[in-house]
Amino acid sequence: MAEKVLVTGGAGFIGSTLIRQFIEETDTSIINVDKLTYAGNLSSLGLGVERLPTYIFLQVDICDDNALKQVFIEHQPDAVMHLAAESHVDRSIDGPSAFIETNIFGTYKLLQATRTYWSALPAQRKDSFRFHHISTDEVFGSLSAEGLFSEDTAYDPRSPYAASKAASDHLVRSWHATYGLPVVITNCSNNYGAYQFPEKLIPLVTLAALADKPLPIYGDGQNVRDWLYVDDHCRALRLVLEKAKVGETYNIGGRNEKSNLEVVETICAILDEIHPRSDRKPYNTQITFVSDRPGHDRRYAIDASKLERELGWKPLETFESGLRKTVEWYLNNAAWCDDIKTGRYLGERLGLVP
Ligand code: NAD
Repeated sequence: MAEKVLVTGGAGFIGSTLIRQFIEETDTSIINVDKLTYAGNLSSLGLGVERLPTYIFLQVDICDDNALKQVFIEHQPDAVMHLAAESHVDRSIDGPSAFIETNIFGTYKLLQATRTYWSALPAQRKDSFRFHHISTDEVFGSLSAEGLFSEDTAYDPRSPYAASKAASDHLVRSWHATYGLPVVITNCSNNYGAYQFPEKLIPLVTLAALADKPLPIYGDGQNVRDWLYVDDHCRALRLVLEKAKVGETYNIGGRNEKSNLEVVETICAILDEIHPRSDRKPYNTQITFVSDRPGHDRRYAIDASKLERELGWKPLETFESGLRKTVEWYLNNAAWCDDIKTGRYLGERLGLVP
């Protein structure tokens, strides 16, 4: 078990969940490196975390190689878990530049800084060091009604976001093959849970429902995603960091294929039960169909059997239990949502090619 882990993107949705898990369940020390873009929010880490001796936050852009070099020299991590990224497909359609910059160029800068540091480590620490790259199933492209993405599926990214993540995966593999950097890679399906920025489907729809706004469904609502509760993803990440052999790739997914319409209908049903509208109408009366996302991938579905078989991972939440917890969290954490939305993102439609 790594004693000191450098997490990039630790103020984001998945990174903050991962750090909270490390802090609650282990003695691992965490160096949280995050630029704090619109998507980063230190309040997602929980009150008082900054006073812990096992946690430090550094506001650093991963494209800044001098700053990265200093971080490695001063903090001497045993592993890097790389989550920092521009992560929203619709934003990548409106403005691909930041995606190329952070996801490709930033990953390259981080790989170089890591390699310089790792090369100079004493033999034993060098052997046990890991660079864990956290990626997405979107690198594999779109499926028809049949089939699953496995670790051997050919890459076929179709959005600027997916292409930038695919490029970063290739860079990471090449730093292993060429320089021997001890890497592991994971490709995960769509995450959901507490603290997700409200531009993504589940928080967007939950908050719009509560605000009596239309619930937008792209196209016919039949695009299918394979949903995983974020805490289950983070448990998988920790397992892979600890147990995976160098150079391995694992797909992570919850076997929860749902169409977007099904997801929205389920959120509405949960809200009908736990927080009915004042006029008692069902929330699904707010559903409106809007124009589709350009190049909208039809279906993603993950075969996670390698992770289950080799490392013994199993998700703890079903889609129903995880979604209920998530909707309840958004109901009870209006302050976090208001804070993140005020002046930053007001729920407007993103990702339409003009
Ligand atoms: P997020 O957008 O919520 O968080 C990203 C974090 O990275 C933010 O805190 C942001 O401030 C930081 N960041 C962005 N650019 C940076 C830079 N140049 N330097 C330093 N920090 C920077 O994203 P997320 O949903 O938590 O996703 C985390 C990672 O997991 C990403 O790499 C993403 O591709 C991958 N992933 C996400 C999902 C998902 O469903 N959300 C699924 C599979 C994989």
